Amino acid sequence: MPLYIVGHSIPDSDSIIGAISLAYLKNSLGIEAVSCKQGDINPESRYILEKFGFSPPKTKTSYANEDVFIVDTTDLTLCPDDILEANVLGVVDHHKLGDLTTSTPLEAWIRPVGCSNTIIKEMFDFYDVVIPKDIAAIMMCAILSDTVIFKSPTCTKADTKAVKELALIADILNPKELGLEMFKVKSQVEGTPIRELIMRDFKDFNMSGTKVGIGQLEVVDISVFDKMKDELLKDLEVLRKEGGRHSVLLLLTDIMQEGSLLLTASLDSDKIEEAFDKKMEDSKMWLDGVMSRKKQVVPFLEKIFK
Ligand code: MN
Ligand code: MN
Repeated sequence: MPLYIVGHSIPDSDSIIGAISLAYLKNSLGIEAVSCKQGDINPESRYILEKFGFSPPKTKTSYANEDVFIVDTTDLTLCPDDILEANVLGVVDHHKLGDLTTSTPLEAWIRPVGCSNTIIKEMFDFYDVVIPKDIAAIMMCAILSDTVIFKSPTCTKADTKAVKELALIADILNPKELGLEMFKVKSQVEGTPIRELIMRDFKDFNMSGTKVGIGQLEVVDISVFDKMKDELLKDLEVLRKEGGRHSVLLLLTDIMQEGSLLLTASLDSDKIEEAFDKKMEDSKMWLDGVMSRKKQVVPFLEKIFK
């Protein structure tokens, strides 16, 4: 029985690449491991995998009675539906501790760094396993993505150190330049259906029993959304109702201005205003300096819904 390694639903580059890199490490340690994903890969991940010659992991959504290692989340809402019937042998994560529980002891590699792949890099070092050039390259890309090229407040010294070391192994002279290429791919939003954009990096949260969905789109220049805001707002409300959510938020993050325009649909907008201590205009507010959903958005909402 192989060990399946899988990241969160609506996978991002950290979840996809974390599954690949951790599967490689486990196989090197003599444990038969298979990387998986819970859904389609996004354009950024496709760009990274193609650039360095990888195929996407296979899609697998059911894990009952199988051995699993979870990457990049410990939230039940983001884990496979039957995860509580699986044997969760371990987790690698850099988010707040979620509500996943296990029936047997597990490996827990959880630290407040900017990316799961930073922790996986430390696991390679811990086990003294050499990282192949191509794996180093994609791990480096995952860290550049999650830390928004080191600009995110979630970025730590461990992340910059990991990128430096991985770039050396991968023979990449200018990681920041490659990071910007990745974000240019992410910025190509024109012509994409509105719902697809909202769902591209979307997470549902259970905030003390209140369901709140938060999406984020990180682009080089936020003006790409100028003509889409009304349509986005309209569909946020549809999505809110469809999923029985109290609120749906969408962060349009400008990585150059280093801030986010927050679009909202909510049963009670006062709560959102209270969370950020700011008034909205037409269901929108600019949040200066806000780049991280997990560090600068989720905690403030959780406090309000407690
Ligand atoms: Mn992630
Ligand atoms: Mn991550």
